[in-house]
Amino acid sequence: MKYRSANTYFRERFRRKVYKVGLSLDVTCPNRDGSKGEGGCIFCSAEGSGDFASSCCLKVTDQIDMAVDKLSGKTGADTAYIAYFQSFTSTYCDPSYLRQALLEASKHPKICALSVATRPDCLPEEILEVLREASDRMPLFVELGLQTSSDVTAELINRCYKTELYDKAVSDLHEAGAEVITHIIFGLPGESTGDMLDTVRYACEQGTDGVKFTCLYILKGTKAEKKWHDGLIRPLQMDEYFDIVEEALNILPENVIVHRLTGDGPKRILLAPLWTADKRSVVNYINRRFGH
Ligand code: SF4
Repeated sequence: MKYRSANTYFRERFRRKVYKVGLSLDVTCPNRDGSKGEGGCIFCSAEGSGDFASSCCLKVTDQIDMAVDKLSGKTGADTAYIAYFQSFTSTYCDPSYLRQALLEASKHPKICALSVATRPDCLPEEILEVLREASDRMPLFVELGLQTSSDVTAELINRCYKTELYDKAVSDLHEAGAEVITHIIFGLPGESTGDMLDTVRYACEQGTDGVKFTCLYILKGTKAEKKWHDGLIRPLQMDEYFDIVEEALNILPENVIVHRLTGDGPKRILLAPLWTADKRSVVNYINRRFGH
């Protein structure tokens, strides 16, 4: 099936194999500290979606070194890396702290680009200025957790911002020189396939440069766990999930890069859907079905 994968895009753009290394800043999220909400989005683990990232107690350079070391078994000498600030809301901090972290990452010899995960409601002008400076130094991606374009679903998952903020965030980020990658979750409570595809259409209409799809995971200790026990959430089966992914790929404009067809929840706290834990069989399935 034809779609533009991140692998292909990175190879064209950086002319070599590129991996992402997950990093953490000492930040939280406005949806956890009470300023917008409490307890976070219903699916978010205690690590703030940064379960695979390094510890924020370490210097950025040390985090990168450790992550690169861990990958050394599968990478070659000319592999380049994207410094991915992944945990919680990486722009929810003092602008000077973010500036310093991005500067440090961009000086690391193995780093070819920066990526920052955040929310559309955490991009004030001072932060946009920091992002502008960073994008002047090297390619910059900003990953926005949209998950759904429906404000009704957003309320059910305790996202705590209105969808309209996403529109402005995308245009502000483009103006700051960043490429936008939008996170979308399939299988959120109460959503039909039509609703999920509406989210994909909406993100594309607003000008997202890339998408990351994932299914809704039920992780231990999250609010979703209780809803799942109460029968209010039905995790998607593998075929069912990839049927939706296929429909989503069919409506994506050619220029939109697919950074992820599905994620993999942290195994030690994953309750459902368990097919996502078998990474090898998921990769084989994707290769068979989508040919990448
Ligand atoms: S906005 Fe991100 S970090 Fe904050 S609660 Fe939601 S998923 Fe977690």
